Amino acid sequence: MSAVLIGNTPLLPLSALNKHFGVTVLGKAEYLNPGGSVKDRAAASLLDHYEASGQLLPGGLVCEGTGGNTGIALAMLCGWRGYKCYVSMPDTVSSEKISTMRALGATVEVCPSTVGVSDPAHYTSRARAVAASTPGAVHTDQFGSLANMRAHETGTGPEILAACPGGLDGFACAAGTGGTIAGVASFLAAASPSTQICLVDPQGSGLKSYLASGTFSKAGHECGKGDTLTEGIGIGRLTANFAAGGPHVRAALSASDLEAFRACFLLARGGVFVGPSAALNVVGALKLALRLKRGGVDNPKVATILCDGGASYLSKIYSAEWREERGLAGVEQCGWGDVLED
Ligand code: PMP
Repeated sequence: MSAVLIGNTPLLPLSALNKHFGVTVLGKAEYLNPGGSVKDRAAASLLDHYEASGQLLPGGLVCEGTGGNTGIALAMLCGWRGYKCYVSMPDTVSSEKISTMRALGATVEVCPSTVGVSDPAHYTSRARAVAASTPGAVHTDQFGSLANMRAHETGTGPEILAACPGGLDGFACAAGTGGTIAGVASFLAAASPSTQICLVDPQGSGLKSYLASGTFSKAGHECGKGDTLTEGIGIGRLTANFAAGGPHVRAALSASDLEAFRACFLLARGGVFVGPSAALNVVGALKLALRLKRGGVDNPKVATILCDGGASYLSKIYSAEWREERGLAGVEQCGWGDVLED
């Protein structure tokens, strides 16, 4: 399945945004992958790696700690390839994603989101522990295994550049494991050195300050998320995947939840129904494009990743009740002119 159906997603020009700001932001429609997210690529690459190394044998148990989408991707691929699947995740993951993993046959454990990464109850510790205590099990380790970023170095990055025959001024993307940005950055640094690669950091994440100073400003956030409500992104520790591509990431900027949530609805009304991390990436790509424009680039072309689809968030940002409870009523009514906070 992986070779046929995963990847080769279209790079969509976000027309209404582009018209309003006089830029060209392009979104890689990763929500069109069969498991509904960019993580299908990483999951297929991880399974390929553990199969090739002989560690994953027919009928074995695949264990992973996930923000949700890797769990969906692994559950789908394990069903297809004949493995059992265990996924652990923080209690902040949407109920839609958990239901999807269960429907696909995975055993799901929901873990407290309040504990640090070194705590045995942390979702990544649980996946490691279950793999260690189960004969024939493999911990696919999406944070540590570079098979994750290689999926983007050999797939996502080349596909983006091939879709931009006139060249690409910028690429902007947030990090969860860091696999996507590291892989695309590693490819572009060699194949298109003039493309500026920019990290988009959600509120509360320490990665931007790490890139600026070499240290994390928010000690105690080593488990990562900070205070963002945007699922799947934001890290306050250096993952092996981010570290492998980090030297190619020369710029960083922040985007807030409010900006991402406004962009969710603006994109949806333009026919692009995506989750908050995709919308946050679009905000980041827009900010990078405006920065390049101020620097003299005419109609800058910036690509980003539309990580997953909106249907996984019907009980969250796309629920009026959820928005009301968090003081977010009205985000669905703004125009492109009001999307940015500053
Ligand atoms: N958005 C969502 C919704 C995700 O689930 C993830 C993966 N955690 C990402 C973005 C970030 O991708 P990566 O792990 O490649 O950094």
